[in-house]
Amino acid sequence: MSFDFDHEMQRLEGKLKSLRSKEYIPDALLEIVARTAAIQVEARAAVQAAPLPELATPDAHAQGAPLLPRDAFTYDRARTAATFGRLLAMMRAAGGSLGGAAEVVREAMEKGELAVEDACDAALRDDVAWFDAWALRLTDAPSLVRFLAMGSVVPSVEALAAQVAAEDARRTGADQPGATPVVWQHGHCPVCGSAPLVGRLVGKEGALHHTCSFCRHEYRAKRLQCPFCLEEESKNLEYFTADGEPGFQVHVCKSCKGYIKVADFREFDRISIPVLDDLESLALDIVARQQGYKRPTASAWGF
Ligand SMILES: [Zn+2]
Ligand SMILES: [Zn+2]
Repeated sequence: MSFDFDHEMQRLEGKLKSLRSKEYIPDALLEIVARTAAIQVEARAAVQAAPLPELATPDAHAQGAPLLPRDAFTYDRARTAATFGRLLAMMRAAGGSLGGAAEVVREAMEKGELAVEDACDAALRDDVAWFDAWALRLTDAPSLVRFLAMGSVVPSVEALAAQVAAEDARRTGADQPGATPVVWQHGHCPVCGSAPLVGRLVGKEGALHHTCSFCRHEYRAKRLQCPFCLEEESKNLEYFTADGEPGFQVHVCKSCKGYIKVADFREFDRISIPVLDDLESLALDIVARQQGYKRPTASAWGF
């Protein structure tokens, strides 16, 4: 369960190199992504482990109940506030309309109109109305406050999710050598109950792993199932690829019109970091949208 800072930073460097080869991702955006990801890896290494809250019982969990619902997550408040400050300073330094919006946020904090904890608590309970009020004030960068809040709370949330998953594996014996891998049947994240962000295929037989859009926990999911509406009819589930984007698939559901992108790097020497795989495959979102599909979870990189 320990977090290997050097290893993660190395993987991040490698991943950023392949992102830089994508001409349609603007340099300024990549710079922000690179700095944000590095700040988050540093924060993740420094997060103080919280005492583990009470989890759903094994029976309730087997029926699909998340181990720890999203709004029951706690976070390292001091570390999160420091991360918020670093992300905000980076955005101000970016200049342009984003920098201007970040300056408005800084002033609001100084005047006591915006508290980091309120923003982070709103992120935990997914309070759309709370963030919408800020979007109205920051028309040049409507998602900036959400980005700052989610971006700064994620290292804590990720650390707690890893603790929760490890505790569940311990109590069910899933962490024992030779244990049958758990294939989660309920679509949403087994840890926090949020919808998945992206997927990837792993191992010889191409096991499908989904990464949670909130706590970033990665879990094995059913191959033939829509993770959003749980459709299992094979005639309603399809996937397509796009020329120029090898290594990525778009899995679509004809029942709910949702889609999720799935990385398949098994034939390539490529690094998968799910939240960045999502950015790397931006072109496929456009294709999916043109075909009338929508993604239920937003990219982590909207400002
Ligand atoms: Zn989750
Ligand atoms: Zn569906």
